[in-house]
Order: sequence, then structure tokens, then C-alpha cells
Amino acid sequence: MEKNTLHVIMPDYMTGFQCIAGKCRHSCCIGWEIDIDEEALRRYMSVSGQLGEKLRAKISADGTDDAPHFLLEGEDERCPFLNEQNLCELILNLGEDSLCQICRDHPRFRNYIGDREEIGLGLCCEEAARLILRQTHPMRLTGDPADFSGWTPEDVDLYQFRSRIFARLEDTALPLSERLNAIFQENGLPLPQIDMSRWSAFLTELERLDPAWDRELARLAEERVSCGISCLFALDAASSDPKSEGFFLALFSYFLYRHLPAALEDGQREVRVLFAYIATQILMSLYASHLMEDPETGEDALIECARMFSSEIEYSDENVTRILLEIERVYF
Ligand code: SF4
Repeated sequence: MEKNTLHVIMPDYMTGFQCIAGKCRHSCCIGWEIDIDEEALRRYMSVSGQLGEKLRAKISADGTDDAPHFLLEGEDERCPFLNEQNLCELILNLGEDSLCQICRDHPRFRNYIGDREEIGLGLCCEEAARLILRQTHPMRLTGDPADFSGWTPEDVDLYQFRSRIFARLEDTALPLSERLNAIFQENGLPLPQIDMSRWSAFLTELERLDPAWDRELARLAEERVSCGISCLFALDAASSDPKSEGFFLALFSYFLYRHLPAALEDGQREVRVLFAYIATQILMSLYASHLMEDPETGEDALIECARMFSSEIEYSDENVTRILLEIERVYF
């Protein structure tokens, strides 16, 4: 599909996103290698003065002579252009358009179904996580509905499959537990019982970055979170936490939107629905645990857990693959 014939689709909250830059506690300019695309490399090489000299000193080449690949290198994995106030020197001096593609895009992701380019905001950014979790309803997409002309049968099938799930989630005439049951039954899957202590042990075997995530995994193994989402629905019934259903819907639809299109490559449609469900359950169980400890800070704790889950799991292809394999082994 030609790039200029793509229909751009995004969640309706995207336009409300703004990077909080210097106020961000987990800046995306720390902890990652920054790949520079060819266009940005040409721009950076032509910058004059001290900034140009610094740029040329900090860009290093990797890869092979045939397929070179350029990186910005700083100390302690901190971008060398992040100043003491955690503001980007390149934006301050050259404007936002000077940035390389990866910095301009982050925390956005892109997926493709048929003639649709689906853009979203990744939960690994704390401000995006805040925005996503404050939606309190399943994801709503902007753009025209698909007309399927020129789509492959696989594209149409996946699109309709996900649309049916989204329509079920929106059907507020039914309690959430019945909507979930219907989604799983319609797809030939039993609504699985999730053993959180088992998932805690499994996630502890994966590559991890932040000791704070280890502490959350230990929390997941505690007996009191084993009831997970059912605790929250009980809390809902008592009006103690009317927000829990909205959080569940925002998370489940986010994971479906982000991870289902990859089934066009690996054919793992049902496994990916379970991935979305289990990821949501894990975060809701951590939320339940934090809420029991301190109702005042439960929401902030959920936002932080979602950010950590995303950067520890979603942004590691290896970790996502291992979880998909584990889901296939246990539930199929
Ligand atoms: S993580 Fe999000 S809010 Fe923080 S610096 Fe990056 S884009 Fe901005």
C-alpha cells in the first residue's frame, strides 16, 4: 500500500497529549540508545558552531560498512543533549523539527491494517499513561470506518474480529463480567482464571530493568491480590471505587489496539487477546493491592505500574514473545 493512500486512524485522546518535558520523572531521553535516521544525520552534520561540533562528537557509527547505523551516545545512557533541567538542547536551539524520527515519534507507535495507518500513544510515557487511564471508557478511534477496498481477506478478518470485541466492550447494558464472558465465548475461549502468583514468578524470570518493577512483581505474588479484578468489581458494587471499570476498559482496549495487528504476521489472534486480557488483569490486580494500602494514591500507583509494565514488557520484543509462548503453552 502506498504511504500517501493510507488513512490515518488514532484514539480520540491523542490530540490532548503534550510531553511534559522537564517535569517528566522518567524521561524517554534516559535509558535508551537513540538511533539516528539518515535524514537527521544529514541535518546534524550541517549544523554549525559549538552545537554542531558537539553533535559530531556525540554521534557514533555502528553496524557494517554496507548497512551503517548511527547512534547518539551519552554517559549513563542519558542523551548528551538533555540539559540539567531535563530539557532537549536540540529543541531549544534548532526547534522540534530538527529531531531525528525516533525522538519526534516517541511515545507514538504505528500499526498497519489494510489501508489504515493506526497511530497510538505508548503507555511507557508517564504522561501518555495518565491520559490513557483517564479515559474511563473503551478506546474510541477517529477517522472514517474501513471500506475494505483493496484489503486482503486476512486484513478484513482481523479488523472485523477486533471491531466485534470493541463493540462488546462498549455495550454498557451488560455488566463488564458478562461482556468479557461473551467476548471469550464468541471466540471459542473460556474466560481464563489468572493465577497471579504464577504470573509473578514467570515475569520475574524475564529480563528486567528497574528494581521498582521487581517490587511490584513481589506484590503480585501476595495472597491478597489473587482475587484481582473480582475484588475491584466488589469494590465497585459498594461504590468504593467507581473508577475501576473505566481503568479496566481503557487498558484492555489499549492492549488490543496495540497488539492485535501483529497477528497479521504471526497468526496469533486469540493468543494476543489473552495477552491483552492478562496484561490488564496484572495491572488491575496491582491497582487493587495499592488501593487496599492507600485509597488516596491508588490511581497514581496504577499509572506508574502501567508505565513500568510497558517499558519492561511491551518495549521488549523478547519479553512479549516469551509471554505469548507461555500463554499458548498454558491456555491452548
Ligand atoms: S516520557 Fe513522555 S512526557 Fe516524558 S519526556 Fe518522554 S514524551 Fe515527554
